[in-house]
Amino acid sequence: MSELYADVIVDISHGNVDRPFQYRIPEKLVRELETGMCVKVPFGAGNKPVRGYVTDITPECRFDRDRMKAVQEIVREGVGAQNSQICLAGWIRRNYGGTMIQALRTVLPVKKSVRGNLKRTVILAAGREEAVSVLGECQRKHQTARARLLRELLKEGSIPYSLVTEKLMVGAASLRSLESAGVIRVESTLRYRNPVVRGDLEQGQKTLSGEQSRVVEAILEDFDAGRRETYLIHGITGSGKTEVYIRLAEQIVARGRQAIVLIPEIALTYQTLMRFYRRFGDRVSVMNSTLSQGEKYDQCERARRGEIDVIIGPRSALFTPFSRIGLIVMDEEHEGSYKSENTPKYHARETAIELARMQGASVVLGSATPSLESYYRVGRGEYKLFRLTSRLTGGTLPQVHTVDLRRELWEGNRSIFSRKLQELLADRLRRGQQSMLFLNRRGFAGFVSCRACGHVMKCPHCDVSLSEHRNGRLVCHYCGYESPRVKICPKCASPYISGFRAGTEQIEDRLKDLLPGVRILRMDADTTRTKDSYERILAAFGNGEADVLVGTQMIVKGHDFPGVTLVGVLAADLSLCAGDYRAAERTFQLLTQAAGRAGRGAWPGEVVIQTYQPDHYAVRHAAAQDYEGFYREEILFREMMGYPPVLHMLAVQVFAQKEQEGMEAARALAGALAAENGQGQAGLSRSLPGPGELQVIGPAPGNLSRIKDTFRFAFYVKHGDYGRLVAVKDALEQAFAAMETPGLSLQFDFDPMTVL
Ligand code: ADP
Ligand code: ZN
Ligand code: ZN
Repeated sequence: MSELYADVIVDISHGNVDRPFQYRIPEKLVRELETGMCVKVPFGAGNKPVRGYVTDITPECRFDRDRMKAVQEIVREGVGAQNSQICLAGWIRRNYGGTMIQALRTVLPVKKSVRGNLKRTVILAAGREEAVSVLGECQRKHQTARARLLRELLKEGSIPYSLVTEKLMVGAASLRSLESAGVIRVESTLRYRNPVVRGDLEQGQKTLSGEQSRVVEAILEDFDAGRRETYLIHGITGSGKTEVYIRLAEQIVARGRQAIVLIPEIALTYQTLMRFYRRFGDRVSVMNSTLSQGEKYDQCERARRGEIDVIIGPRSALFTPFSRIGLIVMDEEHEGSYKSENTPKYHARETAIELARMQGASVVLGSATPSLESYYRVGRGEYKLFRLTSRLTGGTLPQVHTVDLRRELWEGNRSIFSRKLQELLADRLRRGQQSMLFLNRRGFAGFVSCRACGHVMKCPHCDVSLSEHRNGRLVCHYCGYESPRVKICPKCASPYISGFRAGTEQIEDRLKDLLPGVRILRMDADTTRTKDSYERILAAFGNGEADVLVGTQMIVKGHDFPGVTLVGVLAADLSLCAGDYRAAERTFQLLTQAAGRAGRGAWPGEVVIQTYQPDHYAVRHAAAQDYEGFYREEILFREMMGYPPVLHMLAVQVFAQKEQEGMEAARALAGALAAENGQGQAGLSRSLPGPGELQVIGPAPGNLSRIKDTFRFAFYVKHGDYGRLVAVKDALEQAFAAMETPGLSLQFDFDPMTVL
């Protein structure tokens, strides 16, 4: 047997994971050593034994064999939270692709050397009397810096760290000694922390409704009996899901365990945070993108030291270094932002379930419009379902009007606003009530449809909308099927065949023409470039500074505007024809959410959904707020076409500088896989374990086939068994490495969320 070598990352606590060192694996460890394990290795000139983590094992020796040091031993004890994180990184790498280093960078908090923009605060921790006596002592000992600090702190209570070091000229050593004596405390200030004062803490204890208590009790009963499950809470907005999460977290914390609460960043509102702070005070912490790297790192340190029990945040909060997790909550579990868009492209749901398995935690998913995946698993008995059916804050469901845009055209209305929407907008303006106009444009949506009959140009093989490329040709992004430009509708021969092209800016202009004097706020990628602009626009609208808020899907998520009594969806088709298999699901979710925005206050609401396909099941069931009805039709489509969750789907992307090279490589890889099926030639998949044919689709040029001068080619592999696709990934990685094509790179996306 040839010798094996281990790549070991040594300095992991500093997030310095860029450079692995190679070590020989001695005979006695060869059988046992695995990627992800913690080992002791000799390091540096003095061969000091240090801890490291194995990121890769290869037969390939990259350095001078004779001078290479050997792994000393495998470390098994006392690695706690970090070990759990490394294991999770190993799992992520195996299941989603990429390198171990990429996986480690994903799960490990990074300690940045730049600590400049850290918002830290020095707080007086001791009581007044004690502080005064310490102050006296410092003065006696001529410790003038410490005395200066204490005098100020006795006046102020807390002072920003930067002022302490720069203005009071107190050194780090003095601070450390005061801190270890318990006189002061240095804290990273959190944006949302300050408003909580002790007195508030006990407030807000609500008596759970019958439905709510049944959920909480059932989950706790399982937990106490040692059963760990994944639960799905299906309940409309306002049905009390968050209250259930809080109650569960309290109970789990009371049992000495920790809780992670995942919330999509965009729904992480001040109100939600305050509800958690009111219950958990300083024992809860938040992770979000407004925290600097340093602050994030500090939050992780607090978690590691056991200073917090509950963390709230977007998907990365999953990697908080807790070692006794008892509960992982994932609110709005259907949200696309739970899938990482960078390699490794992990999904937070599956990763949460794995993490829960490792630490013995329960997983609670919640949504008003559950993902097809989760509902499908409920059907197969993998998740337990709970329903919350009533809105606790009152308010009636809005009245929904579906407007047929084809009819508008027949009857001579060529404006982007239907007559119904025009009428209701004018009405709201007269009454001084607010409206929201929503353009569900999502990424690239260059589909072509007939404005006269609603016919959409679709791929005959994949049953998804074709996308219009710059040269006018229509292309399927899964299989590469192409059709020439169409000028006349193949169904009704109308010349009105084109996509819906209006952007938010254009809508704003048209609206001004329609209703002179109307006050408009616009929210889209352009108006939310700066950090706070998003919050600012929402706040301005909430304060009644505009009559109409025009925006993309950003405006429909999780915000309560009691003054809004009208929501208009300008073209439901924009997301319906997005050219991927999730288009209908996403449309149903967006329409349902949009409808939920109207009539949250005292007045009943109305919703106008404009569409060329009023009979499409996603539109019909959203208008009726009927999730089950939608699910039944959508899962039939997935079954018929073999899309997730019925089969799993692996997207393989080849990136290349040279177009020809990229296409050839993609063809070669896809061809090697396909060769096995049917033709009996020596194919890649022959060597793969597990039965069943792989379906290989493509390669096709990617959706944005030239980003930053890189060409992108994708093909798709489908199979019912996820493990088999993982084996495909491994085989493709090897085949790709053997091709030795510098300038090309390979990426994987399992069960992709969007069309690539
Ligand atoms: P969801 O997360 O499903 O949108 P929330 O938990 O936010 O629902 O509840 C919606 C509203 O109802 C909130 O204002 C919340 O304070 C209130 N609420 C939730 N549970 C109760 C309860 N048991 N009694 C009274 N009010 C409740
Ligand atoms: Zn037509
Ligand atoms: Zn196709």
